[in-house]
Amino acid sequence: MERSTLGTRQVSIEFPGVKALSNVDFEVSTGEIRAVVGANGAGKSTLMKVLAGANPEYTGDVLLNGKPIELRTPLAAKRIGVQIVYQEVDTALIPTFSVAENVMLNDTVVNQKGVAMNWRRMYREAQKVLDRLHITVSPRRLVQDLTLAEKQMVLIARAVQSQCSFLILDEPTAPLSETETSRLFELVNHLKANENIAIVFISHRINEIIQICDRYTVMRNGEVVDTSPVTKDTTTREIVEKMLGRSFEENFPKEVVPIGDKVFEVDSLVSDDGKVQGVSLYARRGEIVGIAGLVGAGKSELCKTLFGAAKVHSGAINLKNKKLRMTNPSHAVKSGIALVPEERRKEGVLVNENVAFNLSISSLSKYCKGPFMHKPAIKVNALKQVEDLGIVTPHVQQYVKNLSGGNQQKVSIGKWLATDCSVYIFDEPTKGVDVGAKREIFHLINDIAKQGNAVIYASCENSEILSITDRVYVMFDGRVMAELATKDTSEDEIMHYAVGGQSPQVREEHP
Ligand code: ADP
Ligand code: MG
Repeated sequence: MERSTLGTRQVSIEFPGVKALSNVDFEVSTGEIRAVVGANGAGKSTLMKVLAGANPEYTGDVLLNGKPIELRTPLAAKRIGVQIVYQEVDTALIPTFSVAENVMLNDTVVNQKGVAMNWRRMYREAQKVLDRLHITVSPRRLVQDLTLAEKQMVLIARAVQSQCSFLILDEPTAPLSETETSRLFELVNHLKANENIAIVFISHRINEIIQICDRYTVMRNGEVVDTSPVTKDTTTREIVEKMLGRSFEENFPKEVVPIGDKVFEVDSLVSDDGKVQGVSLYARRGEIVGIAGLVGAGKSELCKTLFGAAKVHSGAINLKNKKLRMTNPSHAVKSGIALVPEERRKEGVLVNENVAFNLSISSLSKYCKGPFMHKPAIKVNALKQVEDLGIVTPHVQQYVKNLSGGNQQKVSIGKWLATDCSVYIFDEPTKGVDVGAKREIFHLINDIAKQGNAVIYASCENSEILSITDRVYVMFDGRVMAELATKDTSEDEIMHYAVGGQSPQVREEHP
């Protein structure tokens, strides 16, 4: 098979106030899986966008097989076979179209002759691609009904259906469960072996990189600092240290916080959509309570229901011994419940507003006199938060959409810190966040608990549940399968319940 390479020579990009890339030399060849690692904001996505023709204002050269080419539009990139699957899969799909239509979108747009659609051909071709990649999603389903993992498969199928020599996957596994991730890895390995494609794989999960990549490139502050092969001796620690440029202790030192009274109690909660099936739990002051479970177990639905963002069918929610009648999130906020939601770009932050505004929205009433906003106070609050949380931004007027993922997440958390809530709910707060920023987020959450608040921490990463929580509820299929003391449990035990395993007592009761 013919080998092709795609790369950059001395490529730089400057955004207002940020040097996103400086003099980057990079090259990837077909038949390899290359990891690109780096802290949030290191420039990974910016570099990938250059290769995908989506950052036309670069200086330096993009090289195809060693020869400089102009790559200033996405179409130019597609013509040479570069396909990119962005972090936000939703933006690239048409939700009301079928899987087949989405897979064949490029083909339909480019090759359709005349006005009559050949639907049979389209479904047949889509099915062929899906079969070839061993993807079992039915081509007739609507994309809006798919899980995130399935949507990603559809995007990869579309990429491969089009001419594809270089496939860029920008943090594909961030929203995936372990099973979904291993499915994706099978697909990626299959592409490498059978389709003569170069795969560029961006992920913050270093163990994944060691598992499937041939080589890894490390970026730091807009520069490529290292490219090394992955060998059997490669360790997570050495990659992380190259990323951060300093040594790093992997374990998070959880602070011991005194635990007080029950502040939050939930009894037999059932959500209107049926995804929460009778959940009872409680949280005490100073306590971090984990909600573990696989993707789809109902954790996010539970979080939303507790926050009034999803309708309650039956059951009770009590805050400080008062029954709450929550019908919407603003009631929840007034009662003292905060939620940092999973899909922060859709729900957690206003990406088209600036950092200062986002950091003040949850406590806007503090900054308003009648209808007038007190802008200087907003700015003072924002500057303090940016400093306290270590948010990396050139200034507080920066639009949140221009921040890296980890920094967006810090804004999403920071906006709650100026409020006086007593229960803080975090849904997958470290999704897509690098190890350094993750550590800072853990510290933030610990501080919130230390101030005497109750914290609910939902995550499908059992290692995180073990590092930060005091007690954990494991969910499966909308139900709580077990309540465990964190210090007495293990990843294996959590996993046992997360896949629907029963506890010994329950087994006796229901033989
Ligand atoms: P990574 O993907 O490694 O997390 P990015 O490539 O997204 O990092 O970002 C690199 C830097 O460029 C960050 O400081 C980010 O805030 C900034 N940046 C990215 N896109 C834009 C943009 N469109 N406008 C301004 N700054 C941007
Ligand atoms: Mg990125």
